[in-house]
Amino acid sequence: MNAIAQYADWIYLVAAVLFILTLKGLSSPTGAITGNRYGMVGMALAVLVTLVIAPSPNFALIGLAMIAGAVIGVYRAKTVPMTQMPETVALMHSLVGLAAVLIALAAVHNTDQHHTTVQRIELFIGCFIGGITFTASVVAWGKLSAKLAAKPLKGGWVKPVQIVLALGMLGFGAHYFITESLASFWVMTGFSVVLGYFLIAPIGGGDMPVVVSMLNSYSGWAAAGIGFTLGNSVLIIAGSLVGSSGAILSYIMCKAMNRSLLNVIFGGGMGGDAAAVAGSGEVVQRPYKSGSSDDASFMMGNADSVVIVPGYGLAVSRAQHALQEFANALTAKGVTVRYAIHPVAGRMPGHMNVLLAEAEVPYEQVQEMEEINADFGNTDVVLVIGANDVVNPAAQKDKQSPIYGMPILEAHKARTVIVVKRSMSAGYAGLDNDLFYMDKTMMVFGDAKKVVEDMIKGVGH
Ligand code: NDP
Repeated sequence: MNAIAQYADWIYLVAAVLFILTLKGLSSPTGAITGNRYGMVGMALAVLVTLVIAPSPNFALIGLAMIAGAVIGVYRAKTVPMTQMPETVALMHSLVGLAAVLIALAAVHNTDQHHTTVQRIELFIGCFIGGITFTASVVAWGKLSAKLAAKPLKGGWVKPVQIVLALGMLGFGAHYFITESLASFWVMTGFSVVLGYFLIAPIGGGDMPVVVSMLNSYSGWAAAGIGFTLGNSVLIIAGSLVGSSGAILSYIMCKAMNRSLLNVIFGGGMGGDAAAVAGSGEVVQRPYKSGSSDDASFMMGNADSVVIVPGYGLAVSRAQHALQEFANALTAKGVTVRYAIHPVAGRMPGHMNVLLAEAEVPYEQVQEMEEINADFGNTDVVLVIGANDVVNPAAQKDKQSPIYGMPILEAHKARTVIVVKRSMSAGYAGLDNDLFYMDKTMMVFGDAKKVVEDMIKGVGH
């Protein structure tokens, strides 16, 4: 045991390197499984070493907590549908925040330990980030799972309340720092927990996925804070990795949705909220062309190149397996088939990549927006399936549009466009889409899975 304690920091270093390899692996679908395995080994190493070097661990309590956590975790992982992933992740962040608060409270109540100036700052910061993360994540979970209204909390009084809470939290934190008053630490914690609610309640349901990614980042910083409190280097490293990767992801998502990160963090107080402002439903009548699934499969079966643009509707109807079967049938006829993925297609980052991987679409057929956009002009047919906003030309052409500036897949440049959806209804941003009314566009109405199954039959003859 002493020997292990002696090498603990080295083993932690190995775990930290494994965590970095995990992130590297997760950056591409091909490396994701290996990446996850690195993470599992790294975490197992970190937990084992921590148990071995802990001064007087209560193995019974720790074992009980680990078994309970593992049972709940495995059950949830096996049962959660893809569409409920964002709210599940939000709920998990709330637990990280709560853990940070509880550990900080346990540490300040530990009278055996004197806290240095630096440690008091770490405790204070770790605890308030944890408190904010806890309630903010619970509210995000409530909004995403429709247990709370997705409508943003509005009113001139919201900003002043946020400011008063933030000042109260910092003030009592500073008082604890100077006097080591336990009461001030508790009041500071209370302020942070309430502030978490008031930071997220004013954010519309539409921005929730970015918020979840921000909370991911916060939970990482909270974990790093706990690492300082416990003097545990691997927790500091893992927390910082989560914190910074979450911040980068939030930035990328905001860019892909043309939203301001500050606007999202501060609850829409710094600009408009496209998704919350726009309504949804049937849009103004304009002439458009529609056809049958047979027409669609005939056109694609006779094309040289087809690019498939999947969107949220594909996920809803779970049409990915049928779609891949259809793509294979086209490939067998000599058609070149590729998939074009927009970074925010669907309802969470990587949503489409996961669905296509589930359907075992070969990775070389899957192309990101930057790779494929230049090729649309040379494509015979683009099949837009259950997607809408991510192919809306208004993002490039209409300066008044709330999505103006959002990068899009340039499907409108292809020779022919086939759009599969159930109606002419708007997508997530609640906007009409000029693509549907172009001369070269044919709408095929119906549930994505049903239409694709019919197209498979059609391409056979
Ligand atoms: P959209 O929501 O723009 O469009 C999806 C379309 O799918 C709808 O127009 C709908 O039309 C159709 N649809 C729904 N159900 C079915 C079904 N069963 N069968 C066939 N069609 C169906 O999705 P996109 O993927 O194009 O765009 C994503 C949007 O979500 C963007 O606005 C993005 O900013 C936003 N977003 C993305 C996040 C991310 O991280 N990925 C996070 C948060 C928001 P109809 O009702 O007529 O069938």
